[in-house]
Amino acid sequence: MKKEAEPSCSFCGRKKKETQILISGIEGHICENCVSQAQQIIDEELFQKHKKFQFNLPSTVKPRDIKKFLDGYVIGQDEAKKYIAVAVYNHYKRLNQSKSDEVEIEKSNILMVGQTGTGKTLLAKTIAKFLNVPFAIVDATVFTEAGYVGEDVESILSRLLQVCNYDINAAQHGIIYIDEIDKISRKGDNPSITRDVSGEGVQQAMLKLLEGTEVLVPPQGGRKHPEQKMVKVDTSNILFICGGAFEGIDKLIATRLNQSKVGFKKGEDKEVNKENFLSHISPLDLRTFGLIPELIGRLPVLVHLDPLDREALTSILTEPKNALLKQYKKIFKADNIQLAFEDDAIEYIVEKALEFKLGARGLRSICEAIMTDAMFDLPSEPGVKEFTITREFVESRLEKTNVSKLKAA
Ligand code: ADP
Repeated sequence: MKKEAEPSCSFCGRKKKETQILISGIEGHICENCVSQAQQIIDEELFQKHKKFQFNLPSTVKPRDIKKFLDGYVIGQDEAKKYIAVAVYNHYKRLNQSKSDEVEIEKSNILMVGQTGTGKTLLAKTIAKFLNVPFAIVDATVFTEAGYVGEDVESILSRLLQVCNYDINAAQHGIIYIDEIDKISRKGDNPSITRDVSGEGVQQAMLKLLEGTEVLVPPQGGRKHPEQKMVKVDTSNILFICGGAFEGIDKLIATRLNQSKVGFKKGEDKEVNKENFLSHISPLDLRTFGLIPELIGRLPVLVHLDPLDREALTSILTEPKNALLKQYKKIFKADNIQLAFEDDAIEYIVEKALEFKLGARGLRSICEAIMTDAMFDLPSEPGVKEFTITREFVESRLEKTNVSKLKAA
């Protein structure tokens, strides 16, 4: 009888006795080493490339699901969330639209207007987290028109490239948040007196970028120069979200609302919310403020963010998935200390944040001022297993703190 050959790994050739496990298949065998190597290749090819970023919205995800996700991180701002959810949803429909069709869905870039610290950046960040696309934040104030001191607007794209490790395809599907867009508004009505290189000039330069064009980008950012190697990036599928406080725009809105009343028949004008003129914002006000009409046209989704009231600030401290107080509890838990906050301590923190008029941004600096001593001392006191923050404790810490420093934070 013919002696059967000893089985061996069909990939590396090792004999059965040289392996720990040899798995049989229909045509051959594979050893534990080769399985692990194959897994590595799969990880590299599939996982690394595609796990990080995805360019399609799963078909089960609808605008309501996007809003629900935002709700987990951002308190209030329901209207902004709704608009953003729809804009993002449509953005993906646009990415997948058939090219042969006559009807072309246009880009739904977003402009958010709201006081500082009300959640503009947070909304943009959270939406990028949800979509799993590269996300970069840039500040509009650093840009000047080409040829002047400052950065070219193209360097907006350099930031995005850096975020996704120069994966151009990923960058071309990313989201860019341009902060302080109000700071590049036109300075005065007569541009001929002094050339407006950081205002209108920058707005002009941004138009093509927002609309969708192929741009040569200096990979390291900054100013373009002739010897630099350039990377070509197509911005057609990049979603731009702009944000700004537009300080003083509420007065412009109020004036417009007052004037427009004159021509109306009684009973036709909508109830005006005098507490929050921003809720009546229209593209017209942006124009009066100093944005050029072409730029406004390329930011078709205009949303406002509400100022944060007492209730919202309290929720921000305690409710979001990574709420500030949850973070402190986690820090203490690592040292086996149960941290608790009494309700009137939280109330007091909120009162101070309102007083400093810094929106939710103030909460962080106030909490740091309150917690620093405790975070410094308690880890060295092994007997302490619980620690409760009372109103008296908060008051005493804040008395010790230089309040003007908090305001400037
Ligand atoms: P801005 O409107 O100036 O861009 P941010 O989004 O940067 O404000 O907000 C600053 C910080 O305040 C955020 O990191 C977040 O912790 C908190 N914050 C602001 N608004 C909200 C909100 N609506 N819900 C939850 N946290 C918020």
